Amino acid sequence: MKITVDGIACEAQKGEMLLQIARRNNIHIPTLCHSDALPGLGSCRLCMVEIADRGRSSVVASCIYPVKGEIEVLTHSDKIKSIRKNLLMLLYARAPEDETINRLRKEYGVPDSIRFSGDKDEHCILCGLCVKACDEMGSSAISTTNRGVTKKVSTPYDEPSAECIGCGSCAYVCPTDAIKMKEDEGMRTIWNKSFHLVRCKKCGKPFATQEQLEYNREKLGDDWAEALCQSCKKAVTGEKLRDIYERTT
Ligand code: SF4
Repeated sequence: MKITVDGIACEAQKGEMLLQIARRNNIHIPTLCHSDALPGLGSCRLCMVEIADRGRSSVVASCIYPVKGEIEVLTHSDKIKSIRKNLLMLLYARAPEDETINRLRKEYGVPDSIRFSGDKDEHCILCGLCVKACDEMGSSAISTTNRGVTKKVSTPYDEPSAECIGCGSCAYVCPTDAIKMKEDEGMRTIWNKSFHLVRCKKCGKPFATQEQLEYNREKLGDDWAEALCQSCKKAVTGEKLRDIYERTT
């Protein structure tokens, strides 16, 4: 099926998310709470777009909008730009010093000075992407706690969590600079818990926590003795493929 995004005809599968179709066609839609590795959350609402479906116009969050028929989509109409500007004003009030939020709010014309401004050290926009990543990993070590202005993401009672394996997935997917992960002298510290880092068997670089590798062994059947960092894993796979190619040609 074909849909039109900003006047460009795009091929789409029924049920495919609008954001995914736009990205595949190099059409930029801003997001904060989205990771290609995870299902859409529809939490930050920055990916709102305008759609016209059989003469009816509406505004939808493109990361959680499955395409069902031939629609027309506008990703940067005046209405959409105004919605994003208002959202970014609220996010700027919450995380006034965050680099990502500042870049986006300037892009959408939010002035430097607004009526409300929050804690200068606050970077978390409560999008929930870190919680989703941890849940998908199977650890569920963090969650949102409290309500209203005191709402935050944390481990239970801010204590080091027995469930946390120090994988850092929460920090890697965080769209702002909210989750602090420190690595120093072979140790990783995150969520008030410190982990020893295991060295890569090939290059010797500390790269993963023992708990993370144990988890991978249990859940994914990874060979613990073959603990390799990402770049060495790629190099070894390349060598194996080259070897197969040379032996079969
Ligand atoms: S570092 Fe801990 S809290 Fe973060 S995703 Fe991994 S297990 Fe979850």
